[in-house]
Amino acid sequence: MTETQADLTRPRILFIDDEPLAREAFALSLADRGFLVDLAESGDEALGLVNHYEYPVVATDWRMPRLDGIELVGRLRPTLPDASYLLVTGAPDELASEPERSSRVDGVIAKPWTTDALTAAIERAFQLHSKRTESRLMPTEEPETCRVLLVEDNPGDALLVTKQLDKVTRSEYDVVHVERLKDATALLKEETFQVALVDLSLPDAQGMETIRELISVSDHLPIVVLSGFNDEPLAIEAVQAGAQDYLVKGEAGPRLLHRAITYAIERKQVADRLQFLAHHDSLTGLANRALFRERVSRAISHARRTEEQVAVMFLDLDHFKAVNDSLGHDVGDLLLERVADFLLESVREIDTVARLGGDEFAILIEKLGEENDAPVVSQRILDALARPIELNGHAISISASIGISFFPDDGDSLGQLLKAADGAMYRAKQNGRNEYQLFSRETHSRVVKQFNLGNELRGAVARKEFEIHYQPQLDLRTGWVSGIEALLRWQHPEKGLIAPGQFIPMLEASGLIVDVGEWVLDQACRQVREWHADGFPDLRLSVNLSAKQLESGDLFAAVSRAMGDGDAGWLELEITESLLLKDAEQTVELLKKLKRRGVRISIDDFGTGFSSLSYLRRFPIDCLKIDRSFVVDIEEAPEGIRFATAIIALAHHLNLDVVAEGVETAKQLSVVRGCDGIQGFLYSRPKTAEDLTDWLRDLEVVDVSRLRGEGAPGAA
Ligand code: C2E
Ligand code: MG
Ligand code: MG
Repeated sequence: MTETQADLTRPRILFIDDEPLAREAFALSLADRGFLVDLAESGDEALGLVNHYEYPVVATDWRMPRLDGIELVGRLRPTLPDASYLLVTGAPDELASEPERSSRVDGVIAKPWTTDALTAAIERAFQLHSKRTESRLMPTEEPETCRVLLVEDNPGDALLVTKQLDKVTRSEYDVVHVERLKDATALLKEETFQVALVDLSLPDAQGMETIRELISVSDHLPIVVLSGFNDEPLAIEAVQAGAQDYLVKGEAGPRLLHRAITYAIERKQVADRLQFLAHHDSLTGLANRALFRERVSRAISHARRTEEQVAVMFLDLDHFKAVNDSLGHDVGDLLLERVADFLLESVREIDTVARLGGDEFAILIEKLGEENDAPVVSQRILDALARPIELNGHAISISASIGISFFPDDGDSLGQLLKAADGAMYRAKQNGRNEYQLFSRETHSRVVKQFNLGNELRGAVARKEFEIHYQPQLDLRTGWVSGIEALLRWQHPEKGLIAPGQFIPMLEASGLIVDVGEWVLDQACRQVREWHADGFPDLRLSVNLSAKQLESGDLFAAVSRAMGDGDAGWLELEITESLLLKDAEQTVELLKKLKRRGVRISIDDFGTGFSSLSYLRRFPIDCLKIDRSFVVDIEEAPEGIRFATAIIALAHHLNLDVVAEGVETAKQLSVVRGCDGIQGFLYSRPKTAEDLTDWLRDLEVVDVSRLRGEGAPGAA
């Protein structure tokens, strides 16, 4: 069925007659009176047609083989309750003798008809239909505004729908019209709509993609498809993709459209509710086992791709049975609800809390930054439960035992992970309850150690447990010391000296690095000034920086404070490649500002990150420090020599200084001899300030070629 726009607005009639001649005559009589006539040769055909179009007027022959006209009207009324029904008959007298049957139709047309009489009867029928619609659509109570998002690129179609919805007076429609899918999704992120009417062929999306995209931004939005085609398979596909209904454009009049929208909204609400009930625990509203399983398997497949960790926690309340037995199940239920709230408050929104049954809960934690995320959450839960809970006038004390397992270490399915977490929980119970345990004992002790170290780190600054060691750099052209690098150390009261690799990541994660970094800068500058005054006025100082320090925004001020008013020409800041990728604009600005102050910038661990030539061009860099791994490779892997030489050549072509790190042997030195400087055990290990003062006092010029040839430590 194809129609023009004009056809769609003409009054439309359905006429049913089993005689072809009668059908033709009916259509011809009305055609030039401005009516549009659809013809059907049987009642069955008519019953099919009314599903697609809401006819205001239906005229039918009385005597027909299978289903007679009056029967047919009875069958059509439920679908088209407001339509006017006319019976067309050659024997109107017979009808008069059957008042009961004749009362089922709204009017009678006698065969043969005159065009005028027919037209008049039809017009009366249309008036009757309008009256019925109006009374049905009259507002019974305050009209509610229904916000409709109309996604339609054809302006004519959009106008038609808007006009049709205007005619529906019972509900007030507020139609917002957009022409593209991307405008629709943008709008849905900001505003709420009760329903979307959507064309499936848009300038920027085709077919089911449109439905899926809309659902992905607003999964509670009922969707009614407005299609240009009467295509049953397409309609089924649309509903399977998540639409609530499928209407053919123009075939839906105001009432059918209104009904479709109302049903779509109701259907969606019911579906959402069922969906919720199927996936949630009815007491607490938490996820149930089924939803938990779904989330865990999704998290696992995601974590597999991103090589992240996922934690599953199994939590069982301690002595919950005693609460139930002594205070009754009502209080027990209330307690479970409160515990559910505590659990939800202890995790982030992306995590899932489930009730598996009774007093057993499970928690899925995704995107673990560090392994101790799950222990941190566990501790938070234990702390939250430690306070007595006020319920119906009783102050109840409750605690929990928690077991934790990790993907991939402890299993790669929900079954395995839950079993592992359950096992760990059992250990927590045996240990005396009110605690958490990790499934693997090694992980447990490692994580706990790290966790404790992290806590101790907080007080380390105040307790002055940090100190700085200094490692000299050798200038290969002069054989003299060119600078020193400040390297942070943690003097732990029991564990002794701890290397930065073990605690800098924790300082970074906690944000403490900003303060500690500033302390390093300050302390090292003060120390170097002493050496300047002590006969080494040109000694350069290198200080390592963390990304957090650049982001904190105070770096420039910190440098200025450390330098005082003096010249900053002897300070070099070491940054890593990854740091340059973040927030490039701001970093460029900051580095340029530092540079104007005289500060040198070097790239630390060069070659291990992205080593992009574009940042070498964009950033004001003075020096590349070849990472130790390349220097180690000189003796251990055939390509080591080639890489080291290539980096040196690159640096020199770009007019940058280059320093090799971690040089331990004469052989390594001979390969990197093209460098401006070296740093490594061959020249000197890092030393305390005191030892370095002595070292400087005894310092002599190194014969670099001898150092290279014989491997004799020159001045270590
Ligand atoms: P880095 O900046 O690359 O420092 C050089 C590291 O190599 C130092 O390790 C140093 O002790 C070691 N090293 C030097 N020569 C040799 C050698 O010949 N052989 C071997 N095997 N190692 C050598 P350290 O002191 O453990 O520092 C590790 C990293 O910690 C540093 O690497 C730096 O990235 C970071 N770091 C140290 N202090 C600070 C600091 O104050 N702030 C920040 N943000 N990071 C720091
Ligand atoms: Mg460094
Ligand atoms: Mg380095």
